[in-house]
Amino acid sequence: VTSQTPLSALSADDLAARLTTVRADYDALKERGLKLDLTRGKPGSDQLDLSNGLLDLPSGLKDAAGTDVRNYGGLDGLAELRAIFADLLGVDAAAVVCGGNSSLTMMHQVLTALLLKGGPDSPRPWSQEPVVKFVCPVPGYDRHFTMLAELGIEMVTVPMNADGPDVEAVRALVADDPSVKGMWIVPTYANPTGAVCSTEVAAELMAMPTAAPDFRILWDNAYAVHHLTGEEIKSADALGLASASGHPNRPIVFASTSKITFAGAGVAALAASPENRAWYLERLGFASIGPDKVNHLRHIEFFGDADGVRAHMRRHRDLIAPKFDAVEEALSGRLSGLDIAEWTVPSGGYFVNLDVLDGTASRVVALAKEAGIALTPAGSAFPHGDDPRDRNIRLAPTFPVLAEVEAAMAGVAVCVELAALESLAR
Ligand code: PLP
Repeated sequence: VTSQTPLSALSADDLAARLTTVRADYDALKERGLKLDLTRGKPGSDQLDLSNGLLDLPSGLKDAAGTDVRNYGGLDGLAELRAIFADLLGVDAAAVVCGGNSSLTMMHQVLTALLLKGGPDSPRPWSQEPVVKFVCPVPGYDRHFTMLAELGIEMVTVPMNADGPDVEAVRALVADDPSVKGMWIVPTYANPTGAVCSTEVAAELMAMPTAAPDFRILWDNAYAVHHLTGEEIKSADALGLASASGHPNRPIVFASTSKITFAGAGVAALAASPENRAWYLERLGFASIGPDKVNHLRHIEFFGDADGVRAHMRRHRDLIAPKFDAVEEALSGRLSGLDIAEWTVPSGGYFVNLDVLDGTASRVVALAKEAGIALTPAGSAFPHGDDPRDRNIRLAPTFPVLAEVEAAMAGVAVCVELAALESLAR
């Protein structure tokens, strides 16, 4: 296939001819009997190996303050680890709580506490409101949406732009409706678009008037230090901007080492205003006598300080950047100029966002599946799995080895073109 004319400009005859050629490419693809998977944003095993040193740590039993890490206690986590997260997230160590392995669990704890108890500034628990709604930038992280659905929180969407959520759309939703209680943001290298929320957008979101007095922004900075290029972008300072604009309790910041050390055995952290932090710890105190401080200590020993984390992330980058390059090469090699797809070239994070011809994303995913390539279900980056344009596909290239990413993406590009031709020839 060589023509780089937009497919929509082809005559009916040319379209039919091209459909025949690309069908043959697809049949050849199916013949190969591939078994490849681009569905989940998991670290590859070579990435996990970078942290195997953790398995021989900690070498000591006490933190700098002399606390025996094997025992109960220390609900907010070891101080040296809080200092590392604080440095990475650009917040005060006093704002940080280090917990168990999952930041998603911390987000769930925060939401359930807001529902059952309300926040420090809530007129009543959220569950006593007739309706609770959340603003969801789309495309976004599927688990954020399934968590809200599970908890009975309604979702209203706004577009996710290259510099963060569409502020005017958010303003319009939150200004007069007190049932809109919060919103999600993945501020840095967003899942799945790779967008980075600018300081200007962050400042507006923190300052904007909201009808709900207890409006919360769940600032999920899962990819704060997950750079794919030498330009190590700093996240906007959510807590600082919020407190400067008189809404210190609006944001709650989350992060974890899931994609830094071990995805299933890292450390998660939260950072918040003094009032929110005390509120969270009070709730947590009914559920836990303290986190896994042995794991905290081994992370402290493993990294030493925040620069140790940054150096470690460069080793991750060396392993995964070629996989992102392979995605870009496969897509532009086959599809550029055809005007049937757009995709991101992220400078960090774990995903490539692929938008295909409207109405063909489900077909692309089905074609890929038949050819042995598993893709995330079309629409999964939207609340209730409903992509109104059926065009969005999230690609996750980190887990398979490079040769598999190359093979899978060459196949995906064929499927994208075939689905577009089928649709245009109709
Ligand atoms: N937040 C985002 C945006 C993610 O993409 C992921 C994992 O893919 C998580 C949170 C999960 O974080 P954790 O492993 O700390 O629960």
